[in-house]
Amino acid sequence: MKYALVTGGSRGLGRAVCLKLAQMGLPVIVNFQRNRAAAEEVAEQIRAMGGRAELLPFDVGDEAQVETALDGWQERHPDDYIAYLVNNAGIRRDGMMFMMPSADWHAVLDTSLNGFYYVTKRLLPQMMRRRHGGRIVNMASLSGLKGLPGQTNYSAAKAALVGATKALAQETAVRGVTVNAVAPGFIETDMTADLPQEELRELVPMKRFGRPEEVAELVGFLLSDAASYITGEVISINGGLYT
Ligand code: NAP
Repeated sequence: MKYALVTGGSRGLGRAVCLKLAQMGLPVIVNFQRNRAAAEEVAEQIRAMGGRAELLPFDVGDEAQVETALDGWQERHPDDYIAYLVNNAGIRRDGMMFMMPSADWHAVLDTSLNGFYYVTKRLLPQMMRRRHGGRIVNMASLSGLKGLPGQTNYSAAKAALVGATKALAQETAVRGVTVNAVAPGFIETDMTADLPQEELRELVPMKRFGRPEEVAELVGFLLSDAASYITGEVISINGGLYT
């Protein structure tokens, strides 16, 4: 059976993506780092819809944890493989560059960029060998396209993810594995809960933050058969904020 893995599936965009993929009939592996209760809730919701869900905790930025968790999953599922991967886990540690502690620089790069590398590298050989149309979607950001002040670490991680998406797409195309990125603007999640929403939504031509479900629709499309000839693309979803 072909499974979908969503990193950071316990909350926010990842949670909405898990629910969307379950609606599409895919068995979903919900990764999280700390928040087991939230991940359980997502899995319960999927099961209540008649879908299949499993929890798989690991820190995407820790290569040893990634390998142990994914190897363990494969041992428990000798006949299955992960054909759909959403590299969604990410964090913010904002601050002006001249005052940024190196821990904040590394934490953001470790999660968004190194996490992409560790998880994707581990799953790619099987996806490419199977030639059954593997799908990878990376959660980039408007910050990685435009650059946002106070986010040099986050903008750097997300811009690097965009470059990696375009490069990897060309490596895997011949095996039928597509690699795309999604670049959301301001979306209502825990990650943006501390931002001055009143002020920021005035900057958005649609005058509102996006909803996680709106991003999940786009990710679902990119993972579907309907998107079989789209690869190496970065699709913005930001209410017109930056094009
Ligand atoms: P969120 O609400 O803060 O949720 C973050 C998720 O990532 C949680 O499930 C969390 O797990 C998980 N996570 C964090 N660090 C992890 C790690 N080291 N290993 C495994 N899982 C980890 O964030 P969000 O707003 O949904 O953002 C999701 C993605 O979209 C991120 O990559 C973010 O950069 C990107 N994005 C968000 C926005 C926005 O406006 N919200 C805009 C552009 C891009 P726990 O529950 O266990 O902590």
